[in-house]
Formats: sequence, C-alpha cells, structure tokens
Amino acid sequence: MLFKSELLYADTQPMMVQKQDSVGVESRWLSPRVTSSVFWDLAIWMAVFGLLIGVAFPFAVTLFGVPSHISLRPDFFAGALFAGVVVGLVNFGLVRLVVGKRLQQLSRRMEYVSTALRDTPFAADASSCSPDACRLNVDSKDELGDVAQSFNRLLESLNSSWTTEAAIRSVAGSVAGHLDFDELVITILDQYAARTGAAAGAVIVERDGMLSVASQRSLVGDVIGDARVLQEALRSPAITAMTIPPGVAVDSVIVSFVPRGILVIPLWFGGQALGAVVLAFSSNVDPAAIRLLEGFQPSTSVALNNALMYERFQRLAALDPLTDVYNRRFGLNRLNEEFARSTRTGSPLGILSLDIDHFKGVNDTYGHLAGDRVLRSVTSIMRSCVRAGDIVIRTGGEEFTVVIPGAGYNDVKALGERIRRTIQLERVDIGGSEISVTVSLGGLSYYGTEIRDPEELLVKADQSMYASKQSGRNQLTMSRVHELAGDLSHS
Ligand code: GH3
Ligand code: MG
Ligand code: MG
Repeated sequence: MLFKSELLYADTQPMMVQKQDSVGVESRWLSPRVTSSVFWDLAIWMAVFGLLIGVAFPFAVTLFGVPSHISLRPDFFAGALFAGVVVGLVNFGLVRLVVGKRLQQLSRRMEYVSTALRDTPFAADASSCSPDACRLNVDSKDELGDVAQSFNRLLESLNSSWTTEAAIRSVAGSVAGHLDFDELVITILDQYAARTGAAAGAVIVERDGMLSVASQRSLVGDVIGDARVLQEALRSPAITAMTIPPGVAVDSVIVSFVPRGILVIPLWFGGQALGAVVLAFSSNVDPAAIRLLEGFQPSTSVALNNALMYERFQRLAALDPLTDVYNRRFGLNRLNEEFARSTRTGSPLGILSLDIDHFKGVNDTYGHLAGDRVLRSVTSIMRSCVRAGDIVIRTGGEEFTVVIPGAGYNDVKALGERIRRTIQLERVDIGGSEISVTVSLGGLSYYGTEIRDPEELLVKADQSMYASKQSGRNQLTMSRVHELAGDLSHS
C-alpha cells in the first residue's frame, strides 16, 4: 500500500514563516520625516523637543513655588532654552551611539553576505558565510533584536539552500560521469545513501514492462516483493513511501533490522518511468532529505537513460541479431582480451569450433526460415551448455566458436561432447514438422605457450573441426596445443 511521503516525515518545528502585515507600507504618521536622513530627523525632533521643554520649564517651575520674577527673567529663560536644546542634542548623540552602532554592524554583515552570495554559486562553497561566521549577536529584546534574529534566519535559509544546491550539483556531476550501467547504479546508491543518511537501498530498472533489481546495497530480501506495489509507485515521478515488503531487512554489521521506512524515488525520462531508487531508513525521514532527493531526480534520470541507451547500443553492436550470441567482430575482441588475460595469469583458455553438418541441405530442403530456426536452436543449446563467463561467437553463417576461460583440455572435451550430444538429440520444430541436425567440433586448450596471435588458436580449432568433418561428421576432434608451440603440461 502506498501513501503520501508526508506520513513518514519526522516531527519537525513548525515553519518559521510568519505572516507579515503590510510589509513595506510605511506609516507617515508614525515616522514623520523632515530630511532624507532618519538620524537628521531625529536630531531636529530632539532639538525642537528640548527647545519646547526649555520654553515650558520657566512656567512649570512657578507651579512649584519659584517666584515668577525669577523664573521669567530673560537670563533664566535663556538658560532653560539652552539646557533644553543641549539635553535634546545629547539624547540624539546617545541614540546615534547606541542604535547607530548596531545598525552599522548589521549593514557591514549584510554587505559581507551580499558579496559571499555573489561568489558562492560559482565557488561551490558556502563555508565563507556559514551561519556561525556571519550571524549577528541577538542581545536586545526589541526591534533591533528582531532585526538581528530575522537576519540570522535569513542566513540559515541561504546557507541551507547553498548546501542543497551544492549537494544536487555534486550528485549530478557524479552520475554524469558514468556511462557504464553497472558503475552508474553503484554510484547512485553510494551518493543517495551518503547524502540522505539512508541505511540501505536498491536500484530497480524496468525493462520490457518487467522490474528487476540492478543493484542492491546493505539490503536483504526481495525488495520488489509484490511488483504491483512498485509499478503503482512508478506511475508518477512523485517520491512516495512504501510499506516494507515482508522479509526485507537492512543488513547491518552488527545485526539485521527491519527498516523504519522505505522511500521510492521514481526515475522518469521522456514521460515514462525507467526505474526507481529504493531507499531504506532506520529512523524517520527528514523532510529536507526528501527535498534533496527531488533535486537529485532529474540528473539521475538523464544519467540512467544514457546508460540504458549505451547498453542497448552496445548490445546492438555486439550481438548477432538472429541468434543473440556475439557477432564475429565483437567476439574476436573478447577472444583477444581473454587470450591476454590467460597469458598474463597463466590460466588455461579453451576454444571450441563448431559447424552444422549439411546445413545447406536444410536450407535447400525445408527453406531458409527452417534453416534460421535450426541456427537459433543450435545456439540456444550452446548457451544452455556453457557457463556464465564463456563466450559464444557466431564466426560465420553456420559456424560458431566458444571461448572458455579457465578450461583445460578435459573441460573442453567434456563441454564439446555435451554440446554435440544435446544437439543430436534435439528435435527442431520447423513449422509443422520436426528435424534433427548434427554438428562437427574441434577443440583445444591453450596454456602458457608461445603463441602471439590468438587467431592461431581459431585456425587450429577449425583444423580439428574439419578433421571431424572428414572423419564422418557428428564428432569432436581435440588437438594438442604443443603442436603449435610445444607445451602440453596442463592436458
Ligand atoms: P558441411 O557439413 O560440410 O558443413 O556442409 P554445409 O552444407 O553445412 O556447408 P556449406 O558451407 O556448404 O553451407 C553453409 C550454408 O549455410 C550455406 C548458406 O546458405 C547457409 N547459411 C549461412 N548463413 C545463413 C543464415 O543466416 N540463415 C540460413 N538459413 N542459412 C545460412
Ligand atoms: Mg556446415
Ligand atoms: Mg561451414
């Protein structure tokens, strides 16, 4: 069952966004302006207020019993006026000293932050203006304190978006560097786990409507579980939380544990799902991690699409379209690689050459399509007989070569015989009727001899195959490599 990712969010502080009332609308009545400088206005208002106090003072003191002939004397009056103006101006000086200094500090920090803001996106480093380096001291419980606090909050928001942007850029750079599918899926898991603190994960890829696990990290059990659940999650690019499939656990060094939550991050490209990253968490998922993952999605999707395309083109370039085994060009490259490895490591290299007997007769009697079916049947038997690392190559029309890394003389002989017998026993459906074919084989095992060109091995195996033909077909002829270079120690 799927549900919105919010359900998995950790309890977090309520958003710090407060509704502001008429931001930017000044009340002229509360802030009467005379000049273009607030401090000059303040100085004027304070001097005027001091002057008014100076005027009122001589009259006020008469109420307290000072005779009016004294208080209203011109020199007393002038003194009061002067004192009023001086108090006003001293007050202004104090305000300028206390408030002005704070404002100056704020302005300097803002200037510093604005320079850092200009440079940071290019420097990919937010540390020059981390909240610690740039924050203002909040030691005033008034509007000045509010300003400092708002400034600090702004700084934290900026820093968090710098960090997020840097992480998104770094992940984009890492995944863009991999065209090879296997390397890419490992990089995706490494990066996603490192950036979000996920305990485990898997990359799921959709091919021909089927989901398969391309890579799994620290996760045990069948992460796909009921495929319909994941299919449902892939219907849209939205990140969703998924109930944990039964038996799935995080494989920790100390003890395996059931994850607290699983996130499905669909990877979409060109309007369709390519697959998904599945992340398992040992604790509640931080909403910031989900926002980060949303930022990773576009670059990862492009990289996955590129890797899948590359893999498809490589397949097209490497495989024979009729039989789905390696074509001659690609197969011989693989032979060269295996030959070099064998020479380097000293491990044996087995070669089998195979040719279908009287194949022209199949074409002539039953038609070309029947011949194609026989070719597919023979290759499918060869593929079922060989092991994962063995290389089946269509070297000619009805001629094949099997490169068998690590195979000694007896291994090659056993495999050749198994292939020959299985093909002989197989009945090929050619549409309505069934026929059987036989093959002739030649085999050898190379081991540390002085051969320089691996094609020499092919020539030798072919010679053995022709020997089988001449001896009546439907048989395997093994040859000794010492006939080429004189080493027989392994056989
Ligand atoms: P032998 O037992 O001596 O090997 O005889 P053969 O008839 O198998 O050998 P030959 O070389 O005379 O014939 C090979 C035939 O394979 C000729 C060619 O038409 C056919 N052939 C090659 N490629 C294909 C293919 O892709 N499809 C089909 N149906 N036939 C093919
Ligand atoms: Mg033939
Ligand atoms: Mg032939």
